[in-house]
Amino acid sequence: MSEDTLFTKIVNREIPADILFQDDRATAFRDIHPQAPTHILIIPNKPIPTVNDVTEDDEAVLGHLFVVAAKLAEQEGISENGYRLIVNCGNHGGQVVFHLHMHLLGGRPIGRMVSRS
Ligand code: AMP
Repeated sequence: MSEDTLFTKIVNREIPADILFQDDRATAFRDIHPQAPTHILIIPNKPIPTVNDVTEDDEAVLGHLFVVAAKLAEQEGISENGYRLIVNCGNHGGQVVFHLHMHLLGGRPIGRMVSRS
């Protein structure tokens, strides 16, 4: 049985996703349950489970996620008004998929930075 993460399957095009960007280091696709008019997930192709697993070897790919985020924000027309980038980690962070990912949310005011709900 495959041990690939859900998001690795998206990277490998084994399950469908609305992929907006892909290169040898990162993939970006629309979130299946969007929380804002623009809700994109940007992931390293390498399946790093959580921020706790990040090492110095990952610095370049993680920096690349920001470059991709900025390009996609421009493409989505939300650069000027702004947007939010979120990386959840673990249970208290609200992480559900254990393949590190950056959420790009915009297209409306995103509101309070954190909620107690
Ligand atoms: P997190 O809570 O940070 O782990 O976020 C996981 C995100 O993945 C959620 O916003 C989900 O809606 C999203 N998601 C789960 N499955 C898929 C999928 N197959 N395609 C796109 N987004 C997904």
